[in-house]
Amino acid sequence: MLAVLFQLESSQWLASEELLALQRLQLAKVLAHALSTVPHYQESFQDIRMKRPADFTWEAWRQLPLLTRRAVQTAGTRLLSTAVPAGHGSLCRMQTSGSTGTPVTTYGTDVSQLFWKVFGLRDHLWHGRDFTAKHAFIRSMRGLKPGDSGQAANWGLSTAPVFATGPAVRMSILTDVAAQAEWLMQQAPGYLLSYPSNILALARLFRERNWQLPGLKEVRTIGETVGGDVREICQEVWGAPVKDMYSSQEIGYIALQCPGHEHYHVQSEAVLVEVLDDADVPCPPGGIGRVVVTALHNFTMPLLRYELGDYAEVGEPCPCGRGLPVLTRILGRQRNILTAPDGRKYWPSFPASKWADSAPVRQVQIIQTDMEKLTVNLVADRALLEEEERRLIEGLRALLPYPFQVSLSFVERIERSRSGKYEDFVSLVG
Ligand SMILES: [Zn+2]
Repeated sequence: MLAVLFQLESSQWLASEELLALQRLQLAKVLAHALSTVPHYQESFQDIRMKRPADFTWEAWRQLPLLTRRAVQTAGTRLLSTAVPAGHGSLCRMQTSGSTGTPVTTYGTDVSQLFWKVFGLRDHLWHGRDFTAKHAFIRSMRGLKPGDSGQAANWGLSTAPVFATGPAVRMSILTDVAAQAEWLMQQAPGYLLSYPSNILALARLFRERNWQLPGLKEVRTIGETVGGDVREICQEVWGAPVKDMYSSQEIGYIALQCPGHEHYHVQSEAVLVEVLDDADVPCPPGGIGRVVVTALHNFTMPLLRYELGDYAEVGEPCPCGRGLPVLTRILGRQRNILTAPDGRKYWPSFPASKWADSAPVRQVQIIQTDMEKLTVNLVADRALLEEEERRLIEGLRALLPYPFQVSLSFVERIERSRSGKYEDFVSLVG
């Protein structure tokens, strides 16, 4: 791990063209391997002439069809190599949570796991974490029921082999937020990792109760889009900055937050990220497109040009000097796009700071039911006064690019998906 980390310490400063040239070498190998040993690619890429690494060209690469989640589900074990190189170690199975559909099962090896761990370590070192602190994790966890908590002697696989750390404590994301808050008060962690929507709910509860977590140094987020309101409230309530990570079960770490900025650096040493527009052309800086990834070290189930289903915005090179490409924002999925009647598309955001003061509302989820209409599902402490309803609707409408008809629908609770994730906007249009 330390040997790989040593290489990453220098490769992060390479110029972007140098990084791309190195990616090309590795990509040519994965592609040649896939074309000669993976039944799915042998069948569907019969006409592709890149069976030897020397044949690789970027032009031909960009012509390769994209691999969708559905295709991965359908292909199943036909995506497995029949000849995994000796030395890549044993197979391990990964299953996505299926938060927006059927789960996807993929496989990696000891080698891809090694990279996964080292990039986790890079994140700790980039952000200068204090390894002696206690780390709390609130996320979806196999084996933990709502309300259950657990503990471990150290932070886990990314640190245990190389650094001594303080203890880790864990709680299921499905636990009631008030119970989470009480648990955090007892635990007094130095670091807290969870989903942004859960962090937001916790921070609001801490603010209401005037509770503190004086030892909290940093909030770490995964799994959902991080809005500015999450960063603001963590600073306000806990005096703690937020550091976000972009990863997936199938690929591992894709992009990590820059040590000096709020945007992300693609982890180019392990993954090629293409951000493509509707015509499958790479987006320029400022452009928003679909995230297409290729893992560079997975020789057991090579995922070539795999379309994750997420959208991201491409950034300009980072002033920190790292040559690793920049993603300004990670934007969620197709179903999180708002469509106006004129066909224009938006990534809506409903920061709690814009509506929370208008009524005693705990949680909202906005559903676009047709081109003209939005329904706001909300969980409130009590029935709202007419005046409160009016102010709430006004507050939400001010965040919309078009005068949609907005109606309120009071619900007992808004469930998280099976993976523990939460979407504050979902479109049923198209
Ligand atoms: Zn940077």
